[in-house]
Amino acid sequence: MSLCANLHYIQNQIGECEKKYHREIGSVQLLAVTKGRSLSAISELTEAGQHRFGENYIQEALPKILKRPDLEWHFIGPIQANKTRHIAEHFSWVHSVADMKIAKRLNDQRPFSLPRLNICIQVNISHELTKSGINEETLYPLLEYCLSLPRLHVRGLMTIPTETSVYEEQRNVFKQMALLQQRCNQLMLENQLDTLSMGMSNDYEAAIAEGSTVVRIGRALFL
Ligand SMILES: *Cc1c(COP(=O)(O)O)cnc(C)c1O
Repeated sequence: MSLCANLHYIQNQIGECEKKYHREIGSVQLLAVTKGRSLSAISELTEAGQHRFGENYIQEALPKILKRPDLEWHFIGPIQANKTRHIAEHFSWVHSVADMKIAKRLNDQRPFSLPRLNICIQVNISHELTKSGINEETLYPLLEYCLSLPRLHVRGLMTIPTETSVYEEQRNVFKQMALLQQRCNQLMLENQLDTLSMGMSNDYEAAIAEGSTVVRIGRALFL
């Protein structure tokens, strides 16, 4: 199938999941993950109506962003301290904030000519040692700290669960994320989190069922 056909297929699947799980229509956004993909693939997707793109590597992303500053760029990869300036200057969103030092640098380096940088805090909900992201005990202090940084707009939580093809296991992990977000919102009444960045090519249905608002899809677009 063509990229355009794949995009329309995924958009349609997202819509079907919204209906099936009684989610508001249009409440789940598609982030097209384009790491390792060419600018021409990105252009093809934009012509088919996609304008949000996720990238993992700053060196790879920068030339694409400089060519297409009109698109909405989301940084979704692990963040090294020496890369924060480029991220703060060129992205609208960062999904993978996991420590105070990185949050502070993004805040300090966000240009005043741009709106606040939207961020999600990456939570390691499956408690895997190999994955980045923080656990629940360190989440609240980090969240409070980020809320105190004026150039950041704290939007929600993100996770990359352990891969499993078992639907019930997928649902379980995403449900924990939704509950965690609810607890954050009960604790921080003036700063409601409106974003749950969860669900990828192999588990986005389960994520939507549990309240995802952004699914990050790569492979399924490029079959
Ligand atoms: C690569 C990547 C994705 C997309 O995963 P697919 O399985 O290709 O859909 C989503 N989120 C993050 C953080 C990624 O690194």
